[in-house]
Amino acid sequence: MGRANSGRWFMDNIRRRIGNGSQTKFWEHKWAGSTPLRMTFPRLFQLATDKEATVGEWGKWVDGEWIWEFKWRREIRASEQEMVDRLTNFISQCVPCADREDCWTWLASSDGKFSTKSTYSILKAYSNVLPRPNADADFLNLIWKAKTPHKATMTTWRMLKNRLPTCENLRKRKILMTDEATKCCECDMQEESTNHFFLLCPKTDEVWNELQKWLGIVTARPNHFGKHFGMFISFGKEKKIRNLLLAIWVGCIWIMWKKRNERRFDGKLWDSKNFVLEIKIRLWFWNMIFEIVEDAMDLDAWCSNDFICKLL
Ligand SMILES: [Zn+2]
Repeated sequence: MGRANSGRWFMDNIRRRIGNGSQTKFWEHKWAGSTPLRMTFPRLFQLATDKEATVGEWGKWVDGEWIWEFKWRREIRASEQEMVDRLTNFISQCVPCADREDCWTWLASSDGKFSTKSTYSILKAYSNVLPRPNADADFLNLIWKAKTPHKATMTTWRMLKNRLPTCENLRKRKILMTDEATKCCECDMQEESTNHFFLLCPKTDEVWNELQKWLGIVTARPNHFGKHFGMFISFGKEKKIRNLLLAIWVGCIWIMWKKRNERRFDGKLWDSKNFVLEIKIRLWFWNMIFEIVEDAMDLDAWCSNDFICKLL
């Protein structure tokens, strides 16, 4: 896998969709046009007072209408006014919308939704980014870099090698024989394989949906666990984000497997909302122990939606 490249293909193809503007950096994020505004308007970026300000901080609502309020370090000269006008015009299509949150949107498809098809057409232009279906050892070895408890890493390693005792694997070893015995205990519809249980089952599908809301990622998911792993950690362009996503993925797989065993052997039910809450809290705790990301964050901020962009 081209590691230096691993996040770029993704970052090049997403942008922020502006909601209330509170979680998108005016100059840093890509939200109007195809590059961040600091690159489109470098001179004005130099003149900006707060280079970290969010979109929402650069304007206000007046009688239901959004008015941009630029803050410059000094008075704008006549020769610069033309640039300011161009900027105003440039961002006029992207006014905030008070009743929704900012989110990521996917540029490769016409509706902004992530799809496997649009992803793969892009990946042709960024070769060697995703692992081959049965992932090479080098790529899977990334799992050992996860800043997670050893038992969680071990379970995930076994899952990626398709060595967990799922019903399908037990049937192949002739331990479970009947169709009834090999059914997924969550949905009771399909045979419980690694792909089914961790990705395709309605129960775990819901978990990934909830999880993406937390992270602020709009995406469809590949239906193979090796590809899913590759895609998930590729969301992180910066090392700290990639480390965090790696830890989250490991945490998810480990806890899903625990929940599955509790359900199968003790009849204990579980639901996706509580599952994601558990992941958030565990990861917060792991972050304190293993220092996955350096930025200290209180638990409320950690658990809030669109979490990843708060770390950027
Ligand atoms: Zn199922």
